Amino acid sequence: MSDLTKKTQELKLSDELQEGKGEGVAELVRTMLSRIGEDPTREGLRRTPERFERALRYLTSGYLQDPDKVLTGAVFSVCYDQMVVVKDIDLFSLCEHHILPFFGKCHVAYLPDKRVVGLSKIPRVVNMFSRRLQIQERLTNQIAQAIQKAIQPLGVGVVIEARHLCMAMRGVEKHRTETITSAMLGAFRDNQQTRQEFLSLIGRHSV
Ligand SMILES: [Zn+2]
Repeated sequence: MSDLTKKTQELKLSDELQEGKGEGVAELVRTMLSRIGEDPTREGLRRTPERFERALRYLTSGYLQDPDKVLTGAVFSVCYDQMVVVKDIDLFSLCEHHILPFFGKCHVAYLPDKRVVGLSKIPRVVNMFSRRLQIQERLTNQIAQAIQKAIQPLGVGVVIEARHLCMAMRGVEKHRTETITSAMLGAFRDNQQTRQEFLSLIGRHSV
């Protein structure tokens, strides 16, 4: 699937979500509550469908954001050629297989080639891609690719350490199990020293 087709589909999905086309999300949640044997009219649940819909819209609001817009305008020319590392970025996303949260830390680094990006933009890029239905591997790659595209550095490294509630709550894995994914581009893939420097800065021996 081309990027454009994918983007069009994503936008269509968010449009439908935004306009509540067809049966509203809240209405569907009310039906769902009945189907699992709950009483959607009882006091505690009465406004839950609307709350759920609002939460879902917020947690998937990343579909409405454009990575190019988030990053362009914050690109600066510099003569700095050392590694830039932003570590321990809080990450909250939803797994697309169960629509349950996965959350943890994201570490991002790049080796500039005459250009850097405003530091606050890196957590924004992480949030933008996190607020979509995701799998951790794709999320990791999308963050790396967006930075690569925006400033064409000599390399980008992204590591995500996350716990998935779909595994923890269903007892598929031990409750504290973390899933670690990485995306290494350019120097972070080809140069052992660069890669090791990044990993040691984020307190890891390997990924
Ligand atoms: Zn899942």
